[in-house]
Amino acid sequence: MSDDQVMFTLDESEQVTHWYNLVADLPTPPPPPLHPGTREPVGPDDLAPLFPIELIMQEVTTERYVEIPEPVREVYRQYRPSPLFRARRWEQKLGTPARIYYKYEGVSPAGSHKTNTSVPQVYYNSLNGVTRLTTETGAGQWGTALSYACSLFGMECEVWQVGASYDTKPQRRTLIEVFGGTVHRSPSRMTESGKAFPEDHPGSLGIAISEAVELAAQDENTKYALGSVLNHVLLHQTVIGEEALRQLAKAGESGADVVIGCAGGGSNFAGLSFPFLREKLAGTQSPRILAVEPTSCPTLTRGEYRYDFGDTAGLTPLMKMYTLGHDFVPSPIHAGGLRYHGMAPLVSHAVHEGLIEATALHQSECFESALEFARTQGIVAAPESSHALAQARREALAAAESGEEKVIVIGLSGHGLLELGAYDSFLSGRLEDDPLSQEALDAALAEVPVV
Ligand SMILES: *Cc1c(COP(=O)(O)O)cnc(C)c1O
Repeated sequence: MSDDQVMFTLDESEQVTHWYNLVADLPTPPPPPLHPGTREPVGPDDLAPLFPIELIMQEVTTERYVEIPEPVREVYRQYRPSPLFRARRWEQKLGTPARIYYKYEGVSPAGSHKTNTSVPQVYYNSLNGVTRLTTETGAGQWGTALSYACSLFGMECEVWQVGASYDTKPQRRTLIEVFGGTVHRSPSRMTESGKAFPEDHPGSLGIAISEAVELAAQDENTKYALGSVLNHVLLHQTVIGEEALRQLAKAGESGADVVIGCAGGGSNFAGLSFPFLREKLAGTQSPRILAVEPTSCPTLTRGEYRYDFGDTAGLTPLMKMYTLGHDFVPSPIHAGGLRYHGMAPLVSHAVHEGLIEATALHQSECFESALEFARTQGIVAAPESSHALAQARREALAAAESGEEKVIVIGLSGHGLLELGAYDSFLSGRLEDDPLSQEALDAALAEVPVV
């Protein structure tokens, strides 16, 4: 193999056929979600107005593997397996003995990992006579992924986009519309949850979720789709890590020493890392597994592990998770997909149990790393993904100091070609770091319900 051959692919017979469910291997079971009214554990009936039965069962299953339905695999084949690259030129630039690999999800139709779950979600809904899906979107990637999947299965798609993103990222809205979806600025005037806020409010994912859930609950043929956080979403994303394990073996590696992903709601991070965590729990590999978040929305590193709502209005079940408080509205940083007050209960549980680690970085360091990465590897990373790059850079430089030959695996969750405004801010020196103040954190946490 020449030094330039840096991409590792899989043959037809090596393709992933099952998603992996971490719950089957956890030493202790994660705490159950609670009904927002009764505060009792939610049952399948409570979720039925919002989700089709197959997804509800995936939400609670303890089976280790779930087969990927053939119609979903057919769509996956368009862009999967996603490539695993060796970042040789970046390694050289950093002068590190570490071997850096990145799993690139930017090759999907929507440009991010989110298509991995939008396709199965729409598929299962289509089996149940659902004609319309509602959802929220932050930076726009989830809305794009769901809109595309809906167009494949002949379903309507209505998206509430966080106001701050709607105003500053018109191209994202256009892309959702290209794929056939309809976009509303959140907070909108169409829902009670939206009307609780002034029309020019910058919005938040929490508010947008409330709006989408409210409309879905009112109409029998409309259901709701969530792009992150829930167990079934994380399950679908494990196709990333299952492929990465196989590809790493093809690259001649016996395993990873560090696995790094950015974490907003936790889905791309879990998707890459949970199959590695399975190997770690089984004792076949011993990677450090690291979630990276922005200092302006430091859910895992500064939030509290307790029951909180997934949305602002308190319509969703209470989930035991790291949270900054469901009222928390993070500052409008460029990594829109990382601006969520909570974190997937499964990721939260694994962090709380000490199985994985978390760290927070300033966005300026992230963009600096992303520029270096673009100039050596030729890929413009999504601002979210740049958090994983920056942490990998730190690990690679530490390896240069210590002379350690470690294997670093990065989740590159998406491309940033629609986020050039963010790169422009950085290049022209207009990008500011805005770490969360203690007062703002205390005020938001004071609103978390006592359970
Ligand atoms: C949505 C998004 C994220 C954050 O969501 P997770 O559920 O934490 O993965 C990260 N990167 C990209 C490119 C995204 O689109």
